Amino acid sequence: MEPIYLTIALDTPLDRLFDYRWEPSPDNPLPQVGQIALVPFGRQEMAGLILAVHSQTDVPADKIKSVLAVRHQCPALDARWIALCQFAANYYQRPIGEVAIPALPKNLRVPKPTSLDRNLKKLAKLALAKLDSVEPSSPPDLNREQHQAVETITSKSGFAPYLLHGVTGSGKTEVYLQTAARMLARQEQSQVLILVPEINLTPQLEGNIRQRFPGLQVATLHSGMAEGERLLHWLSSHTGQARIILGTRLAILSSLPHLQLIIIDEEHDPSYKQQEGLRYSARDLAVWRAHQLGIPVVLGSATPSLETWQHSKAGRYIKLELQERAVQAAVLPIVKIINTEREKPSEGLTQRLISAIRLRLEKGEQSLLFLNRRGYAPVIHCDACGWMSNCTRCTAHLVMHKLDKKLRCHHCGWEQRIPRACPTCGNVDLQALGRGTQRLEEGLQAIFPEARVFRIDADSTRLKGSAEAAFDTVHRGDVDILIGTQMVAKGHDFKNLTLVAALNPDSALFSQDFRASERLFAQLMQVAGRAGRAGQKEGGNPSEVLIQTRYPDHPLYHALMHHNYQGFADDLLEERQQAAMPPFIYQALLRAEAKELETAILFLKEAAHCTAHHGITINDPIPMTMTRVHNVDRAQLLVESNSRPALQAFLREWLADLRAIKTRVKWGVEIDPVDI
Ligand code: ADP
Ligand code: ZN
Ligand code: ZN
Repeated sequence: MEPIYLTIALDTPLDRLFDYRWEPSPDNPLPQVGQIALVPFGRQEMAGLILAVHSQTDVPADKIKSVLAVRHQCPALDARWIALCQFAANYYQRPIGEVAIPALPKNLRVPKPTSLDRNLKKLAKLALAKLDSVEPSSPPDLNREQHQAVETITSKSGFAPYLLHGVTGSGKTEVYLQTAARMLARQEQSQVLILVPEINLTPQLEGNIRQRFPGLQVATLHSGMAEGERLLHWLSSHTGQARIILGTRLAILSSLPHLQLIIIDEEHDPSYKQQEGLRYSARDLAVWRAHQLGIPVVLGSATPSLETWQHSKAGRYIKLELQERAVQAAVLPIVKIINTEREKPSEGLTQRLISAIRLRLEKGEQSLLFLNRRGYAPVIHCDACGWMSNCTRCTAHLVMHKLDKKLRCHHCGWEQRIPRACPTCGNVDLQALGRGTQRLEEGLQAIFPEARVFRIDADSTRLKGSAEAAFDTVHRGDVDILIGTQMVAKGHDFKNLTLVAALNPDSALFSQDFRASERLFAQLMQVAGRAGRAGQKEGGNPSEVLIQTRYPDHPLYHALMHHNYQGFADDLLEERQQAAMPPFIYQALLRAEAKELETAILFLKEAAHCTAHHGITINDPIPMTMTRVHNVDRAQLLVESNSRPALQAFLREWLADLRAIKTRVKWGVEIDPVDI
């Protein structure tokens, strides 16, 4: 028999595919495109994706190596999944192997998988096990707007992107569930993908889905899963057994052969952007995938990203508004601004806020204090000589963590004991500057000694085991005052919570990052939404949101007071348009890392002169705001264009040139960066 040659994509930075020889034999079925093959690569063995099968190759006979094995246990990935990876590879300027292979569960792509055969058998059992344990629930009648939304989404056929805009509690989730129900009922095999920012912080949604669809298999896909479990869920999606797939951003690259609907909850959430490796936007890929398959995609949010908002204004996305609150008794929380120039806070709390908390304590209701900084104090400082607790490896302060008596860098993880005296001059009177969640906890406990104060942040949940257990404590009512970072802003409705306060949100107003205020608004709306729901209690007063700020007249806070996302977003968009910023232009960022900043900048300078270009703006190389992390200096070069195709064409040529430069600088390019 004639040998067969397989063209294979491998997970390497080399921008090419690799041919291997495959020996036909009567016992071995012919490999197919989309199957996974194990091959020798250098001195290693690697799993790759078969992209073509042919009878010839350009590789000389004495150079070509043979395929070690083909993984027949896993059914071939289909052409549309491969096309998705190919698109992402082209768009994000990576070889396809670097997109497709990492998107597979580890057990499929490591040379010696542990549980592959066993798991394929387990799959059938999984389906049954999950079905026993749920109490089915039936859907409520939709209100007029919800009904309209579901009708619109399900009545059209073909590709259609929708923006579902409504505040927390307006009934978006109900629209997702009932739209999904219709799509699932329509076709025997259809699959629905629901993306959420973080599954662990939104367990209620998973529960709702299981109750609402008691007969269907639900798969979950997120990075916190054990490998064996991940494989199982991935396979159930890939084989079409799972009909509903609930996942975080990585789920957008999973294989879903019968996909009929994509839903993206909290579409504005920054966690949809992958911030390392292939720096993709799951939201953008979702829209592309919906387009590819000719299906609807629903982007839901109370505070849509400006990109999405602009699309809907331009008529590219269909806007569906939910303006009534879903439940009759529900009212929006009342937002009030406290001017901290006039009312000076002590221990971070103004008198008005303290009174508001006291009132809640008397009524047996809960308060939530939102502070976006964990630890005790962001820095300790010596008044005598000016010494500050800086990290020697990063452009950052060491944050004081009083409980475990440590100074800790939140960027590189460096830890040391809190010094008893100033390391420079010996002064023993070191000051803690600023306020983190731990210090706030201490202060509150001093003011309200009988109150049960409870903190939820990355530190407290690490100590106590899991965020879930911490949230349960609050739900059980074992907490009077909850202190939290952005972790508490997501997903959870606390039934007995009637006061939310943002202690010090101002810093984002003047950040160098032009997206900071967009994010702050979304974050504050989201925390405010935690309180909005408790106001649904029959006869209760509306909940209160208090914002402590030195800039009470800032338009952002005014928009917040009036629950006016639209006015805020329209103003920001106008600003962005005038300043030629996204979403009105397209950007790519070349990042360089080196031991010395000089080296990184030099590389970027060389890069800036590489290729002739038209319609492309190349800015000057600059150090990144946080220049040094973990003893590595980082610099960046921003490239812009008002044409996406022009930028894409430029990048392709440019990167080919850059790859030819001999350098020890570690560099990478990011398309549509969000942190610049
Ligand atoms: P969102 O996702 O916009 O925050 P949800 O869909 O979670 O809003 O709805 C908020 C609350 O209102 C939930 O408790 C939900 O069960 C309830 N709800 C939503 N729609 C309806 C409806 N049409 N009738 C009765 N209750 C509803
Ligand atoms: Zn000193
Ligand atoms: Zn550090």
